[in-house]
Amino acid sequence: MSNVDHDDNHDDAAFAAGGGPRVLSVSVASPRVRTIQVVRPGPADASYLNATSKGLAVTLKHFARNFFLPLRSKESRAKAGAPVDEKWKNEIETVQYPEEKVTYPERFRGLHRLTLRDDGAVRCVACMCCPTVCPAHCITIVPEESDSKGVEKRPAIFEIDELRCIACGLCVEACPCDAIRMDTGEHAKPVEDRSDAIETLQTMMARGVKSIAKQGGAGPTWRETAPGKHPHDFNR
Ligand code: SF4
Ligand code: SF4
Repeated sequence: MSNVDHDDNHDDAAFAAGGGPRVLSVSVASPRVRTIQVVRPGPADASYLNATSKGLAVTLKHFARNFFLPLRSKESRAKAGAPVDEKWKNEIETVQYPEEKVTYPERFRGLHRLTLRDDGAVRCVACMCCPTVCPAHCITIVPEESDSKGVEKRPAIFEIDELRCIACGLCVEACPCDAIRMDTGEHAKPVEDRSDAIETLQTMMARGVKSIAKQGGAGPTWRETAPGKHPHDFNR
């Protein structure tokens, strides 16, 4: 008896349109084992010519808009959150950073902060999960004994090299104590000396009370405190 079945339910139209691999056969013994036919990019896609010309067209469109079109209206600038002061009024679409700033998306991963307990102590228990998971190896933690009841360790040194950080957020995901977050809404500041880009335990603790999210927020309304929870009732 054959241990594979041919799958007649595959979507040839989706396959032809590059919508995904086509399932050729499925194992009877283990249906999750399948033989698939993978869609390879055609010569037009593989050459990158289409994508390159599309990119150049977008650049040219922006150049023409900046060069020929009239001033953005005050209303448009106000809507974008840009200052409407005449001094900064200009005809181009370029954001005049740092005087103008764009509005970051809600899930923007900003500078790290270390959350605090009710008594002001850092929540981090120096479990080393975040430096282990960090793909950029930019977290340095030196643990020490904690004098808090029921807490074994705390970080004596907790540093993050923001020049190496790729803002992936894995440290936040890995933390079992909700001790590290990237919800400050701040991005890393420019520095002239590499050492100035290293975030320390003290700076991240000082930022610990700053959040654009509500502590204990739940579900899609994560900006609101869950019913019955104290705003600083972390992870409980
Ligand atoms: S955001 Fe990513 S790269 Fe940055 S410290 Fe966390 S795990 Fe490392
Ligand atoms: S921040 Fe969280 S994951 Fe990192 S060492 Fe502290 S408790 Fe562990």
